[in-house]
Amino acid sequence: MRAIQLMKPKEFPELREVPMPEPGPGQILLKITAAGLCHSDIAVMESYAVLNNYTLPMTLGHECCGTIVDAGNGVKSQVTIGENVMVYGPWGCGRCRNCAMGYENYCYNAVEMNITPPGLGHDGGCAEYMLVDQARFCIPIGNLDPVHAVPLTDAALTPYHALQHSRAKLDANSVAVVLGVGGLGHIAIQLIKHLTPAEVIAIDISDDHLKLAEQVGADFCLTSNQEAVDKVREITHGYGAEVVFDFVGNQATIDLGAQMTRVLGDWNIVGIGGGLAKVGFGATPYECQVNSPYWGTRADLYDVVALAQRGVIDIHTEQYSLDEGVEAYHRLYEGKVMGRAVLVP
Ligand code: NAD
Ligand code: ZN
Ligand code: ZN
Repeated sequence: MRAIQLMKPKEFPELREVPMPEPGPGQILLKITAAGLCHSDIAVMESYAVLNNYTLPMTLGHECCGTIVDAGNGVKSQVTIGENVMVYGPWGCGRCRNCAMGYENYCYNAVEMNITPPGLGHDGGCAEYMLVDQARFCIPIGNLDPVHAVPLTDAALTPYHALQHSRAKLDANSVAVVLGVGGLGHIAIQLIKHLTPAEVIAIDISDDHLKLAEQVGADFCLTSNQEAVDKVREITHGYGAEVVFDFVGNQATIDLGAQMTRVLGDWNIVGIGGGLAKVGFGATPYECQVNSPYWGTRADLYDVVALAQRGVIDIHTEQYSLDEGVEAYHRLYEGKVMGRAVLVP
């Protein structure tokens, strides 16, 4: 079968012919129907493959939808051949206390047991087929179209989880800032608008991405620079925003976020762009909570699927074939993708 594999760190991946995977005991084989490209894949290429010591070659793709085509011993009775599913990505052991609370994304045993998400440690979904290690990671998508469903597994799940922390601070008098209107950001704006009465200020370096922000419901759109800080203060009567969501996380956006969050506010740094925040007395506003959330829970994923099935999330996608996948990664790297790039093998 064909797969887009990272061969070497600091290089773009390659489309290659690889052996067809076979489901071992407990495993499920999916025929991939859609795979989303996340900016974290760029971080994997640039540094995370080395930092996390991934074994290469590795098939990329941690946003995956597929049809169940086979299952190994012990799991055959738990799944239905032909069912269309999405893959919950942050796999955990299922037995530790965090997993028991639903936080498989923060599993205590994952590192020790070498449990990694698909595409982030072992072969992922940018391929014709992939293996899933547990039936519970296969979430039914019902009649959702896989191309529009697949970004739910990360581009929607991650902002939804971040928003869960901060929903109580977003009332009718509140303002939320969304830094970075890419795959995650354009869905975050919609989740905030649908789930809270707060106003949303979208901030990006690209006019095209700001147009997308306006289209999906942002109340204010600002170019990402120091002037945006003054404008956020103006809109918020001098106080700053109740909640800042940073979907970039480089030093430029972290420096902006630090100046945009108010006393008692929340500052959610979701992007992994390598920036670091100065936190402490005098550096952060009084009682400002700084969070660095990772992905989301399985229950959160069922929630975003329900929202999508009700038609309240308008996910913008660019569709590519597997042959065009490497080119799509170049577009993502160059900041040209609007919404989510999705591969359909
Ligand atoms: P993306 O490439 O689709 O979007 C990034 C957006 O940020 C683009 O619109 C770009 O124009 C904008 N941008 C770049 N520099 C900017 C700046 N200085 N100011 C304002 N906007 C700027 O990326 P994505 O797939 O949406 O991912 C967003 C970030 O979140 C990435 O860092 C990704 O690795 C990270 N991520 C984190 C988690 C997590 O669990 N914490 C999960 C998924 C993605
Ligand atoms: Zn991701
Ligand atoms: Zn666990």
